[in-house]
Amino acid sequence: MYLLIEGNQALAVDPCVAERALAVLDDMRVKQLTILLTHEHYDHISGVNWLKQRYPCRVVCSAACAACLTDDRKNMSRYYDALMIGRHQQKYSQKTQPYTCEATDTFEGHDTFTWQGHILEMRETPGHSPGSICIVMDRKLLFTGDTLLKEDRIITKLPGGNRRKYEEITKPWLAGLSGELYVCPGHGEGGLLKKFEI
Ligand SMILES: [Zn+2]
Repeated sequence: MYLLIEGNQALAVDPCVAERALAVLDDMRVKQLTILLTHEHYDHISGVNWLKQRYPCRVVCSAACAACLTDDRKNMSRYYDALMIGRHQQKYSQKTQPYTCEATDTFEGHDTFTWQGHILEMRETPGHSPGSICIVMDRKLLFTGDTLLKEDRIITKLPGGNRRKYEEITKPWLAGLSGELYVCPGHGEGGLLKKFEI
């Protein structure tokens, strides 16, 4: 989860349930949140309803992502426990209920909006999932969700994943971006785009 705060406004990318974030939002007297979702998978959306109960929230994502948010199979929450127990054995003991949430603003293809004077360019980047997007902020930061990670090759084998679309649409777009953008990935370490293997 990434949280940016300016004035009494906050921008949250892929929120999870995090008491620490709530303390910061409280401290900074935040009145309203804009939530951006890089894609529909449970581990990137689990804090949406939790934040909505506490603050007025806009939830922005691609139309394809929005269609999956309301389906616990497509957002993977229905299978999340089995997947995590498989990967992390005893370390994982949480019980995830099937989970759904809703978007308020959606787009197809690409869209740009300003938040507190910052320019956010959002673009559909299919491959990892149907609803995946990347977000460029002020031509400086690049939020990639699971579309680009430093340590792992992009996963396209989950339901809705599509290697061909990744190769044809997403990979050339990523390769055309400035290597000086700072990547904020959905998992693991960030860094300059030129240090990532696309
Ligand atoms: Zn994912």
